[in-house]
Formats: sequence, structure tokens, C-alpha cells
Amino acid sequence: MRVVVIGSGIVGAGAAYHLSRRGAAVTVVDAGCQGGATRAGAGIVCPWVDHPEDDDWYHLTREGARAYPALVEELGEDIGYAKVGALLVAEDPVDLEPVRALLRRRHAAAPEMGDVVDVDTPTELFPPLSDGLSALLVPGAARVDGCSVRDALLRAAVARGAEVRTGVATLTPDGRVLLHRADDTGEGTRWSPAAAGAPADEGEHTSWRQAAPLSAAPAPVTPASPEALRLTDEGVPVEADAVIVAAGAWTGEVCRPLGVELPVFPRRGQILHATMEGVDTAWWPIILPRTGPYLLGFPDSRVVVGATVEDVGFSPRVTMGGLDEVIEAGLRVAPGLFSATVTETRVGLRPVYAPGRALIGPLTDRVVVATGLSAYGLTAGPFTGGIAAALALGEAPPLDITPYAPPRIGL
Ligand SMILES: Cc1cc2nc3c(=O)[nH]c(=O)nc-3n(C[C@H](O)[C@H](O)[C@H](O)COP(=O)(O)OP(=O)(O)OC[C@H]3O[C@@H](n4cnc5c(N)ncnc54)[C@H](O)[C@@H]3O)c2cc1C
Repeated sequence: MRVVVIGSGIVGAGAAYHLSRRGAAVTVVDAGCQGGATRAGAGIVCPWVDHPEDDDWYHLTREGARAYPALVEELGEDIGYAKVGALLVAEDPVDLEPVRALLRRRHAAAPEMGDVVDVDTPTELFPPLSDGLSALLVPGAARVDGCSVRDALLRAAVARGAEVRTGVATLTPDGRVLLHRADDTGEGTRWSPAAAGAPADEGEHTSWRQAAPLSAAPAPVTPASPEALRLTDEGVPVEADAVIVAAGAWTGEVCRPLGVELPVFPRRGQILHATMEGVDTAWWPIILPRTGPYLLGFPDSRVVVGATVEDVGFSPRVTMGGLDEVIEAGLRVAPGLFSATVTETRVGLRPVYAPGRALIGPLTDRVVVATGLSAYGLTAGPFTGGIAAALALGEAPPLDITPYAPPRIGL
């Protein structure tokens, strides 16, 4: 069976990995669009604290988190995965009670979260933290390096014969793939969140992490342009029996020739990396305040602080205002980072499906779509790729996809 995967972010790479393990002949095509989300993602894997009223999101992210340890073993290389735990912090201890109750309720069906405990002195675990915060530790939470996961998945797929090609893929109305060389303008979208009727938040209000856009003054949405990617040739057909569209925020554009308008739009996240010379940050827990930025440590004395949540169209830019927001709020939670060296800033476009859920399932008899993972794609991306792979091969997926199914187009 020949399968083309459009997009080599964490979802497409996950699909390629699972397909190649089942013996499919896989071609992955990626346009290298500016603003791919996987490269920018922070790497928090802690599904149990969010989506208290939304079982569909919760089950997808919980299964994604649960699948990681086996994946790490299968891949057999360092993907930056470590169970460092997550500290939920709040100024007022009362604010921790709802999430404590939620974790208690979910523990029996998700014992991998570990035994949640109060931490009296959180600065002992994460020294730059502000004094006087109350904290709960979720020991099973992990961090992962999104780029490393994607690269390792692709490498494993290539080792089994998959081919990775650079270029823009377009679909014909009957779901065949054309591969183009093209310039990525990095601009242009038909779907603004407002036009798509998007929810303002990334999760509902009762999630532990409040991920509503924080910017005081919303930046203008990039005006719609006819094509996000400027094509410079007619395109070369890539033969396939099935196609998986895992094109992140660009998925709506890619699927349009099929005659369907999928309201997938980009939600920008700006994030910064800093180093604390000579400090071992590798095993610091993830810091999850109820509002504002999260912080997490990586090897090489690195601390990641993020991220903005902005509905500004296809505009993958690092802005003064965005950095200001992250730094100002980050220092409020962790004033000990004041002298840390800013080494890098990243920006990515989270793929959001306007109805507010993930979008996974067959669009036509030969085209499967897998996107909409929003702020949870590093958690659920490899697992979602596995679902898409199963669907493309005509197998039963590892999770009931009814809640995520796209509108089906009769071709
Ligand atoms: C700042 C930030 C922090 C985040 N933190 C976390 C976190 O801590 N935990 C978590 O679980 N998730 C996190 N996320 C979310 C996560 O990163 C995303 O949900 C996930 O990376 C989406 O992966 P994807 O493969 O769907 O899309 P992408 O990574 O965007 O990949 C889509 C790919 O499709 C390609 N493409 C598009 N159009 C075409 C075309 N026509 N032809 C060929 N290729 C095409 C693009 O070049 C791109 O490489 C974060 C995201 C951001 C931005």
C-alpha cells in the first residue's frame, strides 16, 4: 500500500512512523512552511490537569501521554523525554483545590500520573520560583523535545524505506497528490478565527491552564490572500493509494480542492529559551501556574518560558509585545530567572479546528485528515499519527474517532 503524508510535523512524522512499521510504502512531503508548530512547542506532557468537562480532548491527550514511554523505547534514541513531574502553583492555596479534586477523580483510570502530593517549598525543586507559592506535584508529568521526537520518528520511518521530499503538496479534486516547488510567503489565510467562529480559548475555562489570548490589544488579523503558498510550477503527481493530510494550520488550504472548507486556523505562540550558566536544569519540574506562562527545564542549563496565545492569522513573527508578555509574566512567577541569558526565541502556529476539537478521520475514501491538536500536539501528536495511519490502511484505530470525525465528502 502506498501512502503519501502531507506535512512532517509531529503528527505527519508519527503517521509515517506507524505506516512504515506496518510495511506501507510511505512518501512524506513537507513544504517547510514558516511557523510550523512542532519546532516551537514547549514540550509539556501533562494531560490530566486540563479539559475537566471534555472527555474527548482528555481521552486523546491521555492516550497520547500514555503511549510515550513505549515509543521512547521503540525509538531507542534520546528524544528529550523525561518524567520530571509538574508543579501546579498558585498564590492562594484555595485555587489548587479544584485541580486536586480533578486529579483525584482521574487517578484510578490514569495511575501513570503518579501520586499527587503537596510541596511545601517549591523553590527546592525549581529554585528561580517566587517565594510563597503553594504547589501540587504531579510526578508522572513529562517533558519532551518536539523537534527530536519528529526527527526520530522520521528517521525510523526512513530506515524502513520511507521517502521524505521537500515541496508543496496540493490535492486534486479527486484526492490525488501533486508535488510542487514553491516559495513560502509565510502569509495568507482564508480562515481568521472570527470568520471561523472560533472559541476564544484553547481549552474551556475550567482547565487548569488558562490559555486565552493574553495580549491587551489584539494584533490585526493578516488579511486573507488567495493562496498561502505561492506555487511556481504545475506539480508532479505522487502516486498513492491513500493520503494523510497532517498539514497543521495549513490543513484547510490543502483540503480545499476536495470541495470542503475545513475551518482550521493558526493560533500563534511565541516562546523563549534561556540558559542559566552552570546550573543543572535537566530535572527541574514543569511549572504550571493557573494563568500566565509555564516554565520547564531541559539539559544544557536551558529553561523554556512560554507562550503567547494569539489569534493573528498566518503571521509567524516574534514581536516586541509578545516577548514582553512572556518575559514580564515569566519573571513574576520565577524572578530568579532575571539574569538568565536569552538564547533563542521561537514562534509557531498551533493548528486549531474552529469547533474546538481535534480533527481526525477520513474525508474521502482515499484522504484522511489529522490535525487540530492546538496546544496539545506534542502530547497527542505521535498517537494521532498512529490513528491516521490505521485509518489510511483500513485498520481499526486505537481510539474511537467518532468525536473527531470530519465532514465526509461523497466523491
Ligand atoms: C509556542 C508553542 C508551545 C507549545 N507547547 C506545547 C506543549 O507544551 N505540549 C503540547 O502537547 N503541545 C504544545 N504545543 C502544540 C504543538 O506544538 C502542536 O499542536 C503540534 O506541533 C502540531 O503538530 P502538527 O504536525 O499538526 O503541525 P505542524 O508542526 O505545524 O506541522 C505541519 C507541517 O505541514 C507542512 N505543510 C503545510 N502545508 C503543506 C503543504 N501544502 N505541503 C507540504 N507540507 C505542508 C508544514 O511545513 C509543517 O511542517 C505548542 C505549540 C506552540 C506554538
